[in-house]
Amino acid sequence: DDNSNTKNIPMDRKESPVVRGVSDTVVGVLGGGQLGKMLCQAASRMAVKVMVLDPLADCPAGSVAFRHVVGSFDDGDTVESFAKRCGVLTVEIEHVDAVTLERLERQGVDCQPKASTIQIIQDKYLQKLHFSQHGIPLADFMQVDDTESVKKAGDMFGYPLMIKSKKLAYDGRGNAVARSQEEISSAVSALGGYGRGLYVEKWAPFVKELSVIVARGRDNSMSCYPVVETIHKDNICHIVEAPANVTEQVKNLSIDIAKKAVDSLEGAGVFAVELFLTSDGQVLLNEVAPRPHNSGHHTIESCYTSQYEQHVRAVLGLPLGDPSMKVPAAIMYNILGEDEGEPGFYLANQLMKRALSIPGASIHWYGKPVTPRVAIIMGSDSDLPVMKDAAIVLDSFGVPYEVSIV
Ligand code: ATP
Ligand code: MG
Ligand code: MG
Repeated sequence: DDNSNTKNIPMDRKESPVVRGVSDTVVGVLGGGQLGKMLCQAASRMAVKVMVLDPLADCPAGSVAFRHVVGSFDDGDTVESFAKRCGVLTVEIEHVDAVTLERLERQGVDCQPKASTIQIIQDKYLQKLHFSQHGIPLADFMQVDDTESVKKAGDMFGYPLMIKSKKLAYDGRGNAVARSQEEISSAVSALGGYGRGLYVEKWAPFVKELSVIVARGRDNSMSCYPVVETIHKDNICHIVEAPANVTEQVKNLSIDIAKKAVDSLEGAGVFAVELFLTSDGQVLLNEVAPRPHNSGHHTIESCYTSQYEQHVRAVLGLPLGDPSMKVPAAIMYNILGEDEGEPGFYLANQLMKRALSIPGASIHWYGKPVTPRVAIIMGSDSDLPVMKDAAIVLDSFGVPYEVSIV
């Protein structure tokens, strides 16, 4: 009956503060890139106010945020004054001032996920140590300080050897491969030398890369998105296929590892767990992102609750939504304009128009100020091969966006 809901409201309305939406809490986001933009879009539907902190006046999230504070998320004083204007603080990038976050947390600022999580994740070597100590399967790794130690690692792990920067890594811009002992010095120089802080990983002979997005609420409830396959081009996520075309056994193993990894970290929010599947059916953890992730763009159109809405719900302590897919399959193209400025924007614009003519395709223009980037998400009420046809049509359009369908 109609009265049942009102009867269950425990507080006297006259005395309770008026909440003009699902929550009055202002969500502060460190970073205003495309992930921040999509977060703002999801929050806006629920009338949740999101403030973003980003140094670029024309950052992608700026146009859709409730408020955009222009400033560095890597500067202690800036982060502190920003945090004081928000009810809960979260991130869309992990390269933020984690030391300040720890201090603010001690002063009572509500950080979700916790500062400890950001601190572990932002240093990839620390991250590997952390996960190995928690019994999560990963490729062997070792800290390196000089050529001697890399040679030693090469002797132990073999070649090719993956050399990685501990910090400030994204889109593979902290990775260099040495295919033999002779290539060590050029690989190290490409990364900026040992002073940057390097470690090495044994080559993971993967047949597929997978990703699992796990959400954790403030009440510690957990919820997992379907396992997806990510296909990288030049170290950058290029295609995402949802769900991944792997056995139930591999899916279950991936979800178990992803949950275990997230369980070892503190705080609420969504976490993306990047995984390698090897030819003998082993699943190894590559890295975790403590935030929404490009492997989860497809959830906007293909799942009942997108990863962005889920992140907002999680950090605010609202009930988590349903992460399951409402279409049998979806494919996401993460397309980077290869030309800066006008030629790049012209081609991206043409490509977007072509994509708009494909039934079921949705367009997300990231709004990067310099180089155009778009995500094209195609959902399907049939199956993946049909979408691949659409994707091939899309690919055939522009030479700069040439894509191989695997
Ligand atoms: P992201 O943009 O996902 O944050 P990143 O710069 O942190 O990327 P990684 O995820 O460490 O970089 O690596 C990028 C890609 O390089 C991986 O997705 C994978 O294709 C490849 N790669 C990374 N580590 C290894 C490894 N040990 N063996 C083989 N390939 C690897
Ligand atoms: Mg990374
Ligand atoms: Mg990665």
